Amino acid sequence: MSELSIVMLGAPGAGKGTQAVRIAETHGIPHISTGEMLRAAIAAGSELGQKVKGIVESGALVSDELIVEVIRERLSQPDAQNGFVLDGFPRTIVQAEALDALLAELERPLQIVLELELAEETAVKRMLGRALDEGRADDTPEVIKNRFAVYRRETEPLSNYYRNTGILVAVDSSPGMDEVFAEIERVLDGVK
Ligand code: ADP
Repeated sequence: MSELSIVMLGAPGAGKGTQAVRIAETHGIPHISTGEMLRAAIAAGSELGQKVKGIVESGALVSDELIVEVIRERLSQPDAQNGFVLDGFPRTIVQAEALDALLAELERPLQIVLELELAEETAVKRMLGRALDEGRADDTPEVIKNRFAVYRRETEPLSNYYRNTGILVAVDSSPGMDEVFAEIERVLDGVK
């Protein structure tokens, strides 16, 4: 199997998780969501979970150092050796640089960054809908506002970071999820 290493970028609510799951299933690679990993740690009450609970529930970011360590550990697992789709990481320039360094060490550079584009208004509507379905503690209007502010300040600069390396592809996330996925598959066909 040829390796496929992907990073998903996009604002909160842009549909990264939904599309990442489908990419992972279709290509037989793990979906690595830092948000899900942190929520699982919180639910389990582990040491990591206790450390990050308040931060995650306020919509702020946990420290770069901590999350880079979580990712380093996760990427060393056997199932990640043929590729992966990262969702929610990197979220800051420091994290992107740490990922580059880590992948350079492993001699397996990132192949593609998929940026899902969606108007904030639509994204907020989708998140409030999700809050009703899943009851996520950070899907309240106040915390959503904060997550957007953090995204604009910390994560949006990553578009330029990856655009400069030539591996960024933007995908319109406003159509239905099947249509968005079909577009992603067209993009990935060009990579493989
Ligand atoms: P979203 O649906 O907004 O993309 P995620 O499920 O990816 O959210 O993440 C939820 C929360 O987990 C974030 O608001 C943040 O507190 C924490 N988190 C997830 N990934 C990271 C990361 N790479 N760096 C720092 N904090 C993170």
